[in-house]
Amino acid sequence: IKQENVRNFSIIAHIDHGKSTLADRILEKTKALTQRQMKEQFLDAMDLERERGITIKLNAVQLNYKHKNEEDYLFHLIDTPGHVDFTYEVSRSLAACEGAVLIVDAAQGIEAQTLANVYLALDNDLELIPVINKIDLPNADPDRVAQELEDVIGIDKDEVILASAKDDIGVDEIMERVVSDIPSPSGKMENPLKGLIFDSMYDPYRGVITYICVKEGSVKVGDKIRLMANDKEFEVNEIGVFRPNPVPQDELTVGEVGFLTASIKNVSDTRVGDTITLAKNPAETPLPGYKRLNPMVFCGLFPVDSNQYNDLREALERLELNDSSLQYDAESSQALGFGFRCGFLGLLHMEIIQERIEREFNISLITTAPSVIYEVEKTDGETVEVDNPSTMPDTQLVQEVREPFVKATVMVPNDYVGPVMEIAQKKRGQFVDMQYLDEVRVNVVYHIPLSEIVYDFFDKLKSKTKGYASFDYDLIGYHASKLVKMDILLNGDTIDALSFIVHRDFAYERGKNIVDKLKDLIPRQQFEVPVQAAIGNKIIARSTIKALKKNVLSKLYGGDVTRKRKLLEKQKEGKKRMKMVGSVEVPQEAFMAVLEMN
Ligand code: GDP
Ligand code: MG
Repeated sequence: IKQENVRNFSIIAHIDHGKSTLADRILEKTKALTQRQMKEQFLDAMDLERERGITIKLNAVQLNYKHKNEEDYLFHLIDTPGHVDFTYEVSRSLAACEGAVLIVDAAQGIEAQTLANVYLALDNDLELIPVINKIDLPNADPDRVAQELEDVIGIDKDEVILASAKDDIGVDEIMERVVSDIPSPSGKMENPLKGLIFDSMYDPYRGVITYICVKEGSVKVGDKIRLMANDKEFEVNEIGVFRPNPVPQDELTVGEVGFLTASIKNVSDTRVGDTITLAKNPAETPLPGYKRLNPMVFCGLFPVDSNQYNDLREALERLELNDSSLQYDAESSQALGFGFRCGFLGLLHMEIIQERIEREFNISLITTAPSVIYEVEKTDGETVEVDNPSTMPDTQLVQEVREPFVKATVMVPNDYVGPVMEIAQKKRGQFVDMQYLDEVRVNVVYHIPLSEIVYDFFDKLKSKTKGYASFDYDLIGYHASKLVKMDILLNGDTIDALSFIVHRDFAYERGKNIVDKLKDLIPRQQFEVPVQAAIGNKIIARSTIKALKKNVLSKLYGGDVTRKRKLLEKQKEGKKRMKMVGSVEVPQEAFMAVLEMN
């Protein structure tokens, strides 16, 4: 197939607007899947993705499309992750495309990630094909949404396709518009190879599988390639395309999207956004936009059973093979023993890794509350980065603490603007801007410390707006704040894993909140346990866990045996996530308690 009949595109949407459903329809119509292979939402492969309804890994499928003019076209449909944690990956996968199908839900209209994705698409100079999906819904309002697309994004409302991916309305028109509106790839076959890496994954038998889009030149099996970010060289063993199952090929030529393997042992060698060229006849400059990803959120992961420390290390090693943005370092806590301090791109990324460790590796974890990276300027002039509250230097040694701020964009119906502003103020937000998208919908912009977002910002937002708010954020930089470290003492001992950083103005309130919360979360012991919050040597709040009066089991002696066994099993169940900390048994929830406060 000629290069001018190639179309590389992506589908972008706010979560749940129907991206996966449309992708499935397109796969079906281009007969990429036989009925037998067809299972719903093929592109969301991992179980976890399916359950959460999100797409974590990018995928690229090659499809044959026969236009009604009888010409044959080659489509590469590139899937993008939908969550704000993976913005950079979205941007790189969009860089592999010349166009994008923009889906907006006919009932919901434009939401925060619709806009965020549109900006990324425009940054990558993509042609947009606007689609209003779910017009079959009884509460669909396509006219209003089309007007919104015109007013907010500047799309001519007459160009919008009305569709229902579910009922197969408008899908043929979408494919015709892919042909007519999206340009073919513009590179040249005779130029030196430039292949954009937009994803990679680790396969235990073949090494790293690198997903690339060939922007210039071509690459064959046996070629020696060079990764331009680190100058490492490898020989290509295998090349292929996904249709959607992998199909081997001898080469990938300009415009094609597929994969290659080259006995690469480590995914961190094949960073998303890097350019692959040939060792012989290399390109002079890499493709633009490569950026190293730095984790923004950190937490401690500790095995509940300390015998599983090595298993946890192995699990992290395995996950890191597949995920170059996951970081970890050994950490030891007086309270929790040996574990790892891990860095993540964001909260969702953190949750996914935790869940995979527990499910795929069968390790029960205690996780500590997430933290951001603080810049601490000490009185001796030295500046240190602190990603673990327990390692914050003593207050008297600290000159200034700086923390990361984000620009948070919240989109809500105007009835909820009040509650949104209230939450943002409480989270130390600084008001930046507010715009009406139409008569009813408002875009509210605040600068907010990332640490407050990491805490329960999004949950609060959802509950206070009945789920109507959508949210997106971008890191904007570091600013000084009046921050102090709060220590928590159980039975007189400081529990390092419970320390957290708090703004001085909120310290008293949070200290009071957390000791009350811990009192409820930590089960009664055989003895009375004081719970205290302290800044430096100063105790600022205290509560007491009363001693257990009677042994619950003793009541049951001589009683019903099955009931007794059930109770024992229940206790065991509950104990899974308990950790002896000094003399006190502490449940997992206690380490997260700090997240659920104002
Ligand atoms: P994604 O998060 O953008 O990938 O969205 P999905 O494709 O997973 O769709 C989210 C939900 O909307 C699913 O329950 C779909 O069945 C449903 N859905 C998708 N397209 C349509 C449509 O055209 N009409 C209706 N009524 N529901 C749809
Ligand atoms: Mg999806």
